[in-house]
Amino acid sequence: MKRLAILGSTGSIGTQALDVVLAHPELFEVEILTAHSNADLLIAQAKQYKPNAVVVTDETKYTYVKDALSGMPVKVFTGMKSLCEVVQWDTVDMVLGAILGFAGLASILAAIDAGKRIALANKETLVVAGELVMQRAAEKRVQIIPVDSEHSAIFQCLVGEPIDSIEKIILTASGGPFLGRKPNYLVNVKASHALQHPNWVMGAKISIDSATLMNKGLEIIEAKWLFGLRNDQIDVVVHPQSAIHSMVQFVDGSLKAQMGIPDMKVPIQYALAYPERIGNDYKRFNFKDFPKLSFEPPDNKTFPSLDLARKAMNTAGNVPCVLNATNEVVVHAFLHNKVGFLEMSEMIEKTIECVSFIEHPTFEDYEQTDKEARAYANEFVKKSQLSIY
Ligand code: NDP
Ligand code: MG
Repeated sequence: MKRLAILGSTGSIGTQALDVVLAHPELFEVEILTAHSNADLLIAQAKQYKPNAVVVTDETKYTYVKDALSGMPVKVFTGMKSLCEVVQWDTVDMVLGAILGFAGLASILAAIDAGKRIALANKETLVVAGELVMQRAAEKRVQIIPVDSEHSAIFQCLVGEPIDSIEKIILTASGGPFLGRKPNYLVNVKASHALQHPNWVMGAKISIDSATLMNKGLEIIEAKWLFGLRNDQIDVVVHPQSAIHSMVQFVDGSLKAQMGIPDMKVPIQYALAYPERIGNDYKRFNFKDFPKLSFEPPDNKTFPSLDLARKAMNTAGNVPCVLNATNEVVVHAFLHNKVGFLEMSEMIEKTIECVSFIEHPTFEDYEQTDKEARAYANEFVKKSQLSIY
């Protein structure tokens, strides 16, 4: 029986993880659930899964959650500090990091420091501070098992393979809802349109990241740190059917690909159950539904975010942190119709030029960089035509 702390339990990944837990009560028990501000869903989850504790990080929601759960043996906490404490409890065996964005970093570091096994969905953690996270994990002998479907695919392809047998990895990208579109079309697209992902059902932020291809940019950085690769060992190919979740090419030229239907519950279940592979009754892949699988290079001219992320990875230091912080700000603004689709990558590029470079950042440097980048990015958002009118 694994006792789980599910950080971000009210999100897209968090709720799907709870579905996995529900299907396997003999394997998983919920110890901790956390949300930021969705108090009603957190309360409902606490009533259903009966965890030892819940954390609502938005302090204005604390009393509401506490009162709602007052008749139950569930401890209720609030704030980031509490979140970082509960993940270290002896009663936690594994931590699922499914908080969105930079906000997930401190709790993952706290869990690593306490030697907890990590199932990681929160890719921004590795984008911002991959070196620090992987170094701490190595020191504490903590294994980080990826949840992101591409990285789960690569992880699965690497089972039984020595790491130095990798020539390169190839991350597949669906291309998102605007595959094949050009800037004259993208200039006017709205969030409601960008949220319609052709293959995957995901949270709002990652859906926009998929539409801009920033998601793939974040994923190349995530892969670098997870698998300890050189920057030139990470390729991207657009594969609109999302049947192949990613591939590894080995030193002998052999390629291994991991395939399946696009359902995040599969990589979530794999990460939670690892090293076991457990059964489920989810829909199966049917080759008759995919008479043709196709591959094409990404259109880096129309979707510059992928190149921006690669540049940030090559420059290293605190630049990926700036990229991430700015991206969080502009995606939020786009979701609220405050910036245009094409403005997002322009603002990221401009913000990277504004923030001072730190070659070897500490955790505190990342916090400072994140703040500074958000301040610049918010200034650019305010100047957008859409924000003004
Ligand atoms: P959602 O927006 O659906 O959920 C985010 C979760 O994090 C919610 O529980 C939310 O709480 C919580 N949260 C948000 N902000 C904070 C904060 N400041 N402090 C504490 N908790 C916070 O996101 P997703 O589930 O889509 O994504 C989560 C992570 O997983 C992201 O890093 C994403 O890149 C990654 N991922 C997601 C995939 C997907 O299919 N969705 C696929 C691969 C990776 P509340 O509900 O109260 O706001
Ligand atoms: Mg992914």
